[in-house]
Amino acid sequence: MVMDLIDKQELFHRMEQLQERIGMFYQEISELRLMVGDLLEENQNLILENANLRDRVDFGVSHEAPPSEAKKYLHTLYDDGFHICNINYGSMRKGECLFCMESLQRT
Ligand SMILES: [Zn+2]
Repeated sequence: MVMDLIDKQELFHRMEQLQERIGMFYQEISELRLMVGDLLEENQNLILENANLRDRVDFGVSHEAPPSEAKKYLHTLYDDGFHICNINYGSMRKGECLFCMESLQRT
């Protein structure tokens, strides 16, 4: 099959257009991916904040030593890489934290 010059130009033009559109798709996908990442992070923070507030309410009402469920929860939270100490509660932990260790021993 032989193409004349006009057909070839048309073909290249359409391929360029398609490439441009694919580039836009990729950009949109990566933007959406960032948004989903932000939402997941926000969701995680809200879960921690909610748990934190619930703990405070529980402890505030009872004035007693934390129950074993809360103890387990704090251990899990610490093992998952979050601070459970008063100073940095709920934030991401980088390495060991002496305050957290102390909190774990106290509970
Ligand atoms: Zn800590």
